[in-house]
Amino acid sequence: MFEVTPIPAFRDNYIWLLHCQGHAVVVDPGDAAPVLAELRVRNLMLDAILVTHHHDDHTGGIPELLKKYPAEVYAPSRETYDFPHHAVGEGDIVGLTTLDTRLCVMETPGHTLGHVVYYGANSLFCGDTLFGCGCGRLFEGTCSQLYHSLQRLAELPPETRVYCAHEYTQHNIRFARMIDPDNTALAHRETEVAACRAQAKPSLPSTIALERATNPFLRCETPSIQSVAKSADPETAFCAVRTLRNSY
Ligand SMILES: [Zn+2]
Repeated sequence: MFEVTPIPAFRDNYIWLLHCQGHAVVVDPGDAAPVLAELRVRNLMLDAILVTHHHDDHTGGIPELLKKYPAEVYAPSRETYDFPHHAVGEGDIVGLTTLDTRLCVMETPGHTLGHVVYYGANSLFCGDTLFGCGCGRLFEGTCSQLYHSLQRLAELPPETRVYCAHEYTQHNIRFARMIDPDNTALAHRETEVAACRAQAKPSLPSTIALERATNPFLRCETPSIQSVAKSADPETAFCAVRTLRNSY
């Protein structure tokens, strides 16, 4: 089984490094330099690059990495890229043979229209669709699309580890506490994440179970979220919470 290591990049991105016995795969390398440094230190061969969506902070390092390593790139079929890649969409399987792993592609439109996530080996690499205690902003898709994308992720096995692409958890928790103040699991998470961040450790990965218990965007069927959102319809409540969060 592969190990997963976060490579911090820019202000708050994580480039996830999957590695096993000298071989590596990275997810969303927005910057090449920290990835090259980590590969060198760990003496790893980069075999593949997984892309969740087209934003520069997820793809900017790819041309440079391809100059140094003959890696296969997998990127969403509904988006365009100017580097060579395998276009992947809903239901496709990405075989990472050197890690002895297969990941399944799910399309999760919302943050961007073509956004995909990679799921397998009890792990979810979800880019900017799902965050610790939050979700991505709507840059291209509709609120309804993002709602349904997140509902699908919520149905993955509870023990699934959730590898998000940004360290936004603490700020997201502050917002969540405001609209879900009586949630004891959320209060507990706030304490745990504060301790983690005080030591400059990542708050991630989380799990689907933890997100279902604490993430307001996955809790739109609960009375507390619905009363803040002023709607008993989960999808309408979701859109109201997404709008509130935009100005938080
Ligand atoms: Zn993005």
